Amino acid sequence: MSVALSSQAVCISCGSANRIPANKPAAAAKCGRCGAPLSLDKPAEVDDGQLKQVLEKSPGLVLLDVWAPWCGPCTAMAPQFTAAASTLAGHARLVKLNADHSQMVSKLGVSGIPALILYRDGRIIDRKAGLIKADALVAWVRSHLTNSDKPAI
Ligand SMILES: [Zn+2]
Repeated sequence: MSVALSSQAVCISCGSANRIPANKPAAAAKCGRCGAPLSLDKPAEVDDGQLKQVLEKSPGLVLLDVWAPWCGPCTAMAPQFTAAASTLAGHARLVKLNADHSQMVSKLGVSGIPALILYRDGRIIDRKAGLIKADALVAWVRSHLTNSDKPAI
């Protein structure tokens, strides 16, 4: 098969699913409906509704960071998470959920934050807790990439 792999990314602004061609840089992608930058190279701040949409409409890997502003390790990890989002752009969608503003968090089985939950096709496949450096985050997500994901990072 010589079909170019493409991925799909949800626009956080309007909720529509966008197809991202494999040969386009993920960082420059814009929403086809509302024109908002998809910012796939940065973590997206989501609320419960947006998280649901991202999980429903994102084939492949989504990495969720559950955090709160009062949590020291969470704020310490923020730049690490941002760096990982840049490295993983086009391969995994990184999103952040503020636990203080989420009803959903109680259903995620989170016992402490920061909590990292890795989804494939909307289902939880792995999780980690505590402060994790960018390199380790990237290595962890890469270990879950399969042939159906875009290969080279
Ligand atoms: Zn949009």
